[in-house]
Amino acid sequence: RVALVAFLDDRWPEPQPREGRSRLIVLAGPTAVGKGTVATHIKEHHPELLLSVSATTRSPRPGEVDGEHYFFVDDAEFDRLIAAGELLEHATVHNRFRYGTPKAPIERALADGRTVLLEIDLQGARQVRAAAPDATLVFLLPPSWDELVHRLIGRGTEDAEERERRLKTAKVELASQGEFDFHVVNDDVARAAAEVVSLTR
Ligand code: 5GP
Repeated sequence: RVALVAFLDDRWPEPQPREGRSRLIVLAGPTAVGKGTVATHIKEHHPELLLSVSATTRSPRPGEVDGEHYFFVDDAEFDRLIAAGELLEHATVHNRFRYGTPKAPIERALADGRTVLLEIDLQGARQVRAAAPDATLVFLLPPSWDELVHRLIGRGTEDAEERERRLKTAKVELASQGEFDFHVVNDDVARAAAEVVSLTR
């Protein structure tokens, strides 16, 4: 029996808190690098991690479910969340809509010993770093600039003006990679997701 327990412990080791770092992981990176896809892959394959659900003032895209992909709120409700101190961080992304991370579910999950993953933009990552200096900041990189442009245009959900705006944002975002603790190249979603998860152990 003892041998069996040892074997099980070996096969499924408990995640150990990394020295000097909390279980709060921020996944950021340039627009269209595939943060959402990597985060969704992690959510599906690692239900023990909490993928934070953000509040946003943008409208749902087809297939997006309120409370699952985002909490879709209006400007008044977003203002209320900020005023009530209910957001860990918040930012206006691409000069358009507001996005923010609800604080309470994160605090609960961390208190329960779970690892929490935030998929947010660079401004948000900086705010988390300031609010929680022991958070682990991961920067997702495209295999190349051309590949990033291809992904940006290939997604086809934005008009030309919006694409231009996002491309500009992506260049600025790429320049910030030095602020991050780890860099992960998104050459393959499953591989990149596994690498991000390995950083949480
Ligand atoms: P989308 O509208 O395409 O879902 O997301 C646009 C951008 O908003 C992405 O770069 C995403 O990382 C960012 N984002 C999503 N949720 C949050 C959040 O809670 N805070 C911040 N700062 N950015 C977010």
